[in-house]
Amino acid sequence: MYVYADNAATTSLSKKALEAMTPYFCETYGNASSLHSPGQRAAEALQRARETVAGAIHADFKEIYFTGGGSEADNQAILTGAAIGARKGKKHIISTAFEHHAVLHTLDKLKKQGYEITLLDVHENGVVTARQVADAIREDTALVTVMFVNNEIGTIQPIAEIGAVCRERGVLFHTDAVQAVGHIPVDVEALNVDMLSMAAHKFHGPKGVGALYARRGVPLVNVIEGGQQERGKRGGTENIPGIVGMAAALEEAVTGLDRNMAYVTALREKLIGGLSKIPHSRLNGDREKRVPGTVNFCFEGIEGESLLLLLDARGIAASSGSACTSGSLDPSHVLLALGLPHEIAHGSLRLSIDAYNTEEEIDHIIRSVPEVVDYLRDMSPVWDALERGETPHLI
Ligand SMILES: *Cc1c(COP(=O)(O)O)cnc(C)c1O
Repeated sequence: MYVYADNAATTSLSKKALEAMTPYFCETYGNASSLHSPGQRAAEALQRARETVAGAIHADFKEIYFTGGGSEADNQAILTGAAIGARKGKKHIISTAFEHHAVLHTLDKLKKQGYEITLLDVHENGVVTARQVADAIREDTALVTVMFVNNEIGTIQPIAEIGAVCRERGVLFHTDAVQAVGHIPVDVEALNVDMLSMAAHKFHGPKGVGALYARRGVPLVNVIEGGQQERGKRGGTENIPGIVGMAAALEEAVTGLDRNMAYVTALREKLIGGLSKIPHSRLNGDREKRVPGTVNFCFEGIEGESLLLLLDARGIAASSGSACTSGSLDPSHVLLALGLPHEIAHGSLRLSIDAYNTEEEIDHIIRSVPEVVDYLRDMSPVWDALERGETPHLI
């Protein structure tokens, strides 16, 4: 048995999405900008996909701009907020310390260009509050960008409340909803957002395609200059197979949302119950305010990388933190933002499951993780010192 429990990093392509995409490689391969009939068939598929994606988040199709993924959508949204602000002399941006690097690194770039960035601290439960945002807004605030669901710990932020605060104060609001779309209900009207990012490969669509929702009247700036594609806001020949696959995967996810949420939540509860029995372990992030599928644990005295390698050898694909930072020896910026000490932030395990997982797979994880943790602790000098009382237990 090999259990794939790293769905927050990426997912497999759904069969329906693959079937929907297939004709657009070798049969209907026209350029959507061409006037001939193969081109027009591609343009029609593009339009249908745009309507489907818009419908899934209660937007108008004119508010959907396809991108090359979640990172690009984040970049475009934040650079847009910065540009609109600068025209009014506003160069202050509010975000949080536990955003994805697509957000944090774009903000770093803006900082070098003279913007002032406020990164809100995250509470120990992995949730920021609307109150924190309200307190941080100033006269010169151009943009607030707060992620919907954190990719490492799975906590849900109060986006509708934060959006209401921003609207009341006349500040543009973007949310990175890459881990939310297709996993929990997302309604751009109810959420009071001006811009929202999503990525197909996080909900069983293809990689390298995403979308930015921008409310009517929000003038997007281009990240990719080129032709008049995407209403002139994103140059480059459209990735029709990818976009069609994204729409099919999203439609499937939204149709099965209630059933999948209930199913995955039950699996997750079993998983949390099983792993919580490991001594000196800790579930990171709020117990309730979380997406169905993502759990993140710390095991004291354990180093994240060795845990992952041994789990892989036992047939479990997991991750420590995000795909972008694992492989580096730095502790997770997300866990540090929660206020965890470095020693603990090094030893985290993220398991992200979804409706493709089975109960047998969860049982396999619950059996294997404690064995691997025991094995590693047995040969860990850090654990030895903890057990002999030379250093105090932190968990
Ligand atoms: C995966 C992810 C991204 C990046 O999306 P890509 O499609 O890989 O560029 C951005 N934000 C969050 C929260 C993510 O989980």
